[in-house]
Amino acid sequence: MIAIKASIKGDGVMKIMLDAGHGYNTAGKRSPDGMEEYEFNRKVALFAKDFLDSYQNITVYFAHSDDVDVPLKQRTDSANHLKVDAYVAIHANAYGNKWNDAGGIETYVYPTKPKEAVDLAQKIQKYLVMLTGLRNRGVKTADFHVLRETNMTAVLAECGFMTNQKEAALMHTEAYQKTCAEAIVKALAEQYHLVKKQPATAPPTSTGLYKVQIGAFKDKQNAEDLVKRLKADGYDAVIDFVEK
Ligand SMILES: [Zn+2]
Repeated sequence: MIAIKASIKGDGVMKIMLDAGHGYNTAGKRSPDGMEEYEFNRKVALFAKDFLDSYQNITVYFAHSDDVDVPLKQRTDSANHLKVDAYVAIHANAYGNKWNDAGGIETYVYPTKPKEAVDLAQKIQKYLVMLTGLRNRGVKTADFHVLRETNMTAVLAECGFMTNQKEAALMHTEAYQKTCAEAIVKALAEQYHLVKKQPATAPPTSTGLYKVQIGAFKDKQNAEDLVKRLKADGYDAVIDFVEK
């Protein structure tokens, strides 16, 4: 429990910004069969927000928007302004623009390798590889805007190659989008010791009554006398006959 408190700052709410790379008009990478990267990234971000909402004391922000393509500077400015605790950029990779065998998962941190970012990146990489079963390309460094211009722990995950026919087919599916989201959230939960909300269906802690036996008599009249006195004093007393 101490670890949980230590990881939650200020007002006790952990702020996480999810950044689905690119936008509808700056589509990013694309697959040879016409899927645009933003379409995949935004779905993973949506599912990740759903998963994060099942944890206590978390506020999730999106750096991107479906209404307007948010420039990179605006994304990192808002992360810095909101003082979010962690920034996770979600992307998909490509190698060239034709189908080929390049494939797998990689996660990026800034070249100075800030320790917290490396820790988070390694966890994201671990869970993405574990849950997707794709090739592990490792944690890498890159001078990306979102890693350089953010003041907080920031990582960028590349969730497979859009130019790999097998991986692109996976990216089309909600199951794979959810799997990537789940991996990212598992990593965040592990890094920041996030605690699940109590399920709504959990039984209330106590609805029962505790009863205290205050006498045992062989003679019924003695028992009835005690009940009479207790009732006079305002207690709800009953006789419980136990056969010997
Ligand atoms: Zn991208």
